[in-house]
Amino acid sequence: MSESFYSSDVIIIGASLAGCAAAIELARSGRSVLLLDKATFPRRKPCGEGLSSRGRAELLRLGIGEREVREIGLELRGYRVDRNGSTIELVDSSGLVGIARENLDDLVLRRAISYQSVCFRGGISVRAVHLEKGCFRVESNGGELSSRFVILADGSNSKSARSLGLAVPELNRPRYGTSSAWRVTGGSLPSFVTVAFVDGGELYVTPLLNGRCNVSVLGTKQLVQRASRSDETRAMLKRVSSMADLEFDIIGDPLGAGPVNIGYRASEIDGALLVGDACETLDPCGGFGMTHALISGRIAAECLHRALSAQAGSEELSRYAHEREQAVRDIRGFTRLTSYMIGSELGRLTLPLVAKLGMAGMISNAAHSPTERRLVGSVIRTAGVRSS
Ligand SMILES: Cc1cc2nc3c(=O)[nH]c(=O)nc-3n(C[C@H](O)[C@H](O)[C@H](O)COP(=O)(O)OP(=O)(O)OC[C@H]3O[C@@H](n4cnc5c(N)ncnc54)[C@H](O)[C@@H]3O)c2cc1C
Repeated sequence: MSESFYSSDVIIIGASLAGCAAAIELARSGRSVLLLDKATFPRRKPCGEGLSSRGRAELLRLGIGEREVREIGLELRGYRVDRNGSTIELVDSSGLVGIARENLDDLVLRRAISYQSVCFRGGISVRAVHLEKGCFRVESNGGELSSRFVILADGSNSKSARSLGLAVPELNRPRYGTSSAWRVTGGSLPSFVTVAFVDGGELYVTPLLNGRCNVSVLGTKQLVQRASRSDETRAMLKRVSSMADLEFDIIGDPLGAGPVNIGYRASEIDGALLVGDACETLDPCGGFGMTHALISGRIAAECLHRALSAQAGSEELSRYAHEREQAVRDIRGFTRLTSYMIGSELGRLTLPLVAKLGMAGMISNAAHSPTERRLVGSVIRTAGVRSS
C-alpha cells in the first residue's frame, strides 16, 4: 500500500452503511479517512432491504438526495401479516422503502469517495487490530497500517472487535437469517412488506424496483438451512395465502447470516469506536438495522472529529457511547416490541387490533416521535417485553 495510507486521521474497517456514514461525516469536517473493506463494490449482502423513513432522513443528512433514493428504491405502504390464512394490513405511510443493498451500499460508498480526503481500498481483509503505544496497528492481507484512531464497522460478529478483546455473548435463542433475490414472473406483489409465520420463524417478502423482490427468512438454524435451498423457499412462498397464486424465479443465490439477534455489545474498546452491527446487532424483524448503522456511523464521526480537535481526546470518545444510546434507544424499544408481536402468541393476537386502530404507522414512528415513543414505551413496559 502507498505511503499516503499511513497519514490518514482515521482508519475505518468496513465500507458498508455504518463505515461510509462515518467516512462522509469525517470528510465533511475536513478529516482524512482510509476506508477498507474485504469486498469490492457493488456487492450483495444478506438483508431484508426495507429501509425506514428515519434511515431515509439519515441518507439526506449525508447529502444523498430523495431523487437518488427514488431512483433505486420502491415506496411501500407498510406491512402485511399473513396469519392462519387471513391477512392483516399494517399501514405505515411514514416513508418505508424497498431498496436493493447492492445499489444502496454502492450509492453511499460513491458519496463517501466523492470526497478527496476519503481513500477507499476494496479487497482488503483485516485480520486483527492491536493497540500499541497509543496507536492502532491494523493487520490485513494488504500489509500493516497504523493510525491513532480507528472505527470498527465490519458488521455483526466483528473480527476486528474480537481481536481487541471483545467477547461474543452467549445467546439463549440464537436466530439466523438468509436472504435471496427473486423476480415475480406471474401476477404482481402488493406494495407491502409481507410477513408470514413459518415453523421456527418468519418469512419476509419485500418488493423492490423492476418486478424484483427480496425474500428473507429469520429463525432457527434448521429453518434457515432449509430456506437456503430455493425449492424450499419457493414451497414456503406457495404456502403464504397472499402469494399462492404468484410465480417467482430466483435471480440471486441465498446469502446466509447469523446469529442476527446479538443485542447490546459495546460502543468502544480502548478508544476504538464500534458502529453499526459491529456495535449492536438488532434483530432484523424490527427493520431498523440499516438505520442504526447510518446513525451510529454519523455520531461516531462527530465524536471523533471533536476528539481530533480537543486536547483531551479520550473524553470526547467516551461521549460516543452516551450519544449513541440517546439516539438508538427508541429503535431498540421498537425492535423489542416487534419481536414480541411476532414472536409471542399474545403479541400475534394483538395484530388485528393494531391494524384496526391504524396504529402501525404510529408504532414505527415511535422510533422518532417523542409523543408516540412514550405511548409505545408504556405498551412495551405493560407487555413486559424483553430482548433475547
Ligand atoms: C436476513 C437479514 C435481514 C435484514 N433485514 C433488514 C431490513 O429489512 N431492514 C434493515 O434496516 N436492516 C435489516 N437487516 C440488518 C442490516 O442488514 C444490518 O443492520 C446492516 O447491514 C448493518 O450495517 P453495517 O454497516 O453495520 O454492517 P454490514 O452491512 O454488515 O457491513 C459490514 C462490512 O464490513 C466488511 N467486512 C467484514 N469483515 C471485514 C474484514 N475482516 N475486513 C474488512 N472488511 C470487512 C463487509 O464486507 C461489509 O461490507 C437484516 C439483516 C439480515 C441478516
